[in-house]
Amino acid sequence: MQKCQKCSTQFTWKAIQKSLLWGYKPISCSSCSSTHEISSLSRIGLVLFTTAMPMLLVFNPILDLRIELETALYILWVILVIGIAPLFVKYSIK
Ligand SMILES: [Zn+2]
Repeated sequence: MQKCQKCSTQFTWKAIQKSLLWGYKPISCSSCSSTHEISSLSRIGLVLFTTAMPMLLVFNPILDLRIELETALYILWVILVIGIAPLFVKYSIK
């Protein structure tokens, strides 16, 4: 998982999730307080995972799911993506 680029302190799962939920808010290191911003690649990846992919899978006319089910699946998917996102997003010092 992501570490501070200056002092190698590991960011907490919670800190990263909080950053994502607050619209990619920069993370301050807990020990040296340097500010890290999410990389644009991670940002694009997250957008693809939370919008493009579920659109293709859930809103697929061939599967013909009911709208309630599609919405429920979509919400579950987004929760899952945000849940595991701290494993793959990258942050770097501004
Ligand atoms: Zn640090």
